[in-house]
Amino acid sequence: MIMNFHILTLFPEMFGGIIHTSILGRAEEKGILNFNILNIRDFSTSKHNRVDDAPYGGGRGMVMQAPPVYDAYMSVVQKLGSKPHVIHMSPKGAVFNQQKAIELAKKDNLLFLCGHYEGIDQRVLDEIADEEISIGDYVLTGGELPAMTVIDAVSRMIDGVLSNEDSFTDESHFDGLLEYPQYTRPPIFMGREVPEVLLSGDHAKINEWRRRQSILITKENRPDMYEKNAAIYETELNPPPKRKRKR
Ligand code: SAM
Repeated sequence: MIMNFHILTLFPEMFGGIIHTSILGRAEEKGILNFNILNIRDFSTSKHNRVDDAPYGGGRGMVMQAPPVYDAYMSVVQKLGSKPHVIHMSPKGAVFNQQKAIELAKKDNLLFLCGHYEGIDQRVLDEIADEEISIGDYVLTGGELPAMTVIDAVSRMIDGVLSNEDSFTDESHFDGLLEYPQYTRPPIFMGREVPEVLLSGDHAKINEWRRRQSILITKENRPDMYEKNAAIYETELNPPPKRKRKR
């Protein structure tokens, strides 16, 4: 499957370093990911390529105008012959998470609409956006970093993007737990030793240790996640004593 990412932005140059580098860059070379970045300014019909104006009703800042955004979007629709799934990056949206990344990875054309300044005229959002996604409860200067964040997380969920060694199924958030701690050579660093079990070669014991660490770290760092399956985790952490077999 090929994932086509369409990005509507006023700052296309912000994307190059991220999307063409490392794992995403390799997936692009393999033809699994395809990036189509459009500069909204290219769709301005005003004399000085304006794309923003003062807000109706007064107030600070500038608002991105609806027509260039709509025309940029329509150029994608015309090229595809169908409507892509349109995501407006916005601090007012639903907060992004791993489940959303998995859901979006099933689509084949995602369009990210990146706002700047005070945001985008609501009418074009009402007309074209399928959903609004926030990357957290804080405000950034533009939707470019949020779009890159979502694109990166979605890409990792697409078949062929990660090599087998980079499998994501035991990573943080995949199954509602945070990942266990990782170690590599050297075996001793600043007097700190690698947990002995990891050097034992006993894979059943290693898996058991990792699962326990995952549960403990989640309990400590993210009680909200832990609470969702607390009864199961508590039993795993404190298994009932094994009953003696009757003779
Ligand atoms: N006036 C807007 C508000 O109060 O909701 C904030 C506009 S913000 C300065 C400019 C653009 O950055 C937004 O249109 C949006 O695209 C993007 N943005 C900022 N914070 C974001 C976040 N947490 N998640 C997703 N996009 C965000």
